[in-house]
Amino acid sequence: MARKIDNKVKINNVKLIIDRKVTVEEVAYKLGVSTNNVRHWLKVYIGNQKKKRMRLIAGIALLLIISVPIILFTIFHNKTKPVSEPVVQDKVAEETTDVKTNTDKKSIYNGMGKVFIDPGHGFSDSGTEAPEEFGFKLTESEVVLKISKRVVEILEANDYDVVMSRTENYDEKQEDKLYKISLTERVRLAKESKADVFISLHINAYEESNNVNGYDLYYCEKDDKYNEEAEKFANKITDKFIKKTGIEKIRVHKEPRRSSYQVTRQTTMPSLLFEMGYATNKEDAKRLLDDKFLENIAMSIAEGIMGYLTEIYSM
Ligand SMILES: [Zn+2]
Repeated sequence: MARKIDNKVKINNVKLIIDRKVTVEEVAYKLGVSTNNVRHWLKVYIGNQKKKRMRLIAGIALLLIISVPIILFTIFHNKTKPVSEPVVQDKVAEETTDVKTNTDKKSIYNGMGKVFIDPGHGFSDSGTEAPEEFGFKLTESEVVLKISKRVVEILEANDYDVVMSRTENYDEKQEDKLYKISLTERVRLAKESKADVFISLHINAYEESNNVNGYDLYYCEKDDKYNEEAEKFANKITDKFIKKTGIEKIRVHKEPRRSSYQVTRQTTMPSLLFEMGYATNKEDAKRLLDDKFLENIAMSIAEGIMGYLTEIYSM
């Protein structure tokens, strides 16, 4: 004798009501769904063999109908936190240019002009360093030399003449332990080279706060014609730097004479001083240990220089 299935289902709070009057012997199939550790049983009653298959199919169908809202309900309530965006995104644009970095490539730059590269500090003057508590070592005189050498390689591969204020960091034959290259000497070498452009590379530091970070490009305010050229040169480097590194900005500073850097003030060609991040800021400092980042900085400096020179030599 078939008994009716009490299959009232309240969808909104996912409750399955089962006929409690039937005996266990009459239950042929028990199908369950569970949510939040509470198991709901759907009982399918069999009256006779003829209707067995029909009732089984009806039971499974009913189970599926009930399961869908329960599963959705469970998923919705277990969704405790949204999936967050990755903190660090690789925003580096994969630029394809015809910069000559090896002998197989054809350069888009005309190779005309002379460049003076000034890696800051060196020898007895190591420049700034990352604080000990960062747990890694970063020394300004070493990093700026590494970047400078790569810039020179790229420039020379594209047929530019390059002069450097130094090519070494330590000189074992150096008798004088206090030896360093003075700013006055750097200016003298730059003037003597008759280079078309000058760039001095440094790493910044701010001992009072580890939060201060970022990239700064300085030039000295002179006459209008000079300022225009220095600004144009700075913009070439800024544009390339943003494209290649994914860093959002460089602060460009037009410094009044009295507060300007000696190497930008006393040299006569368009001259920039680039502070490539803060050794006292952990993120900036870490980036300077990443070879891919260093390559991108070097490429952006070299391409900025070549872009500027190509423009002035084609006018
Ligand atoms: Zn420095």
